[in-house]
Amino acid sequence: MAQLARSVDLRHFDDMLRARLRVLGEQIREALLRADTETYGELAGQVHDAEEESLADLLTDLNLAAISREVQEVRDIDAAMRRIADRTYGSCIDCGDPIDPARLEAYPTAKRCVTCQRGHELKFAATRPPKL
Ligand SMILES: [Zn+2]
Repeated sequence: MAQLARSVDLRHFDDMLRARLRVLGEQIREALLRADTETYGELAGQVHDAEEESLADLLTDLNLAAISREVQEVRDIDAAMRRIADRTYGSCIDCGDPIDPARLEAYPTAKRCVTCQRGHELKFAATRPPKL
């Protein structure tokens, strides 16, 4: 296995991401059912029937405060699965260095190495209006 030491186990992370999507899909469905309107109820059924791959598409135009965090995570996971598909998963999108596997294990949607992520967050924090 020594020759694989630097490569990322894409299958493992693909499984992890899909499992997380199933949990999120269920949470979103429940939130929609709780919202208790006809539109959301119908949507809840669609979320229930959706394949993991189409969950992000289904939620693309959805902008509900109640599930915004979940929807954002679905989008992050969808993006991570695309990186798996095109074999760029596990490489930092900014510097191209391999992302620490322990970081991926804890945070499978990570798209930057720790160093670049810190720089990114600093930049983001600087441009964001202060919290109320
Ligand atoms: Zn980097």
